[in-house]
Amino acid sequence: MKHREISLSNEESDVCSSQNCSNLVKRSISRKRAEKSSDLSLSGSGRKVGLCTDCYRIFKKSTKKDRAMESLGR
Ligand SMILES: [Zn+2]
Repeated sequence: MKHREISLSNEESDVCSSQNCSNLVKRSISRKRAEKSSDLSLSGSGRKVGLCTDCYRIFKKSTKKDRAMESLGR
């Protein structure tokens, strides 16, 4: 099952929502949260995105970075 089409009706795909990634989903988070990470390029258009372990780690890292920069800037 390596089909990676953008599906509008079925948000729950078992494949990571990050582009260029076809790992299995481990975590599901809201798209708004995921979009805060500039290191992730998301595919699909569902309200929720599924991330694999690796991409979730990237997401966590990049949002942490953003937060640190925010607090440093002010
Ligand atoms: Zn992934």
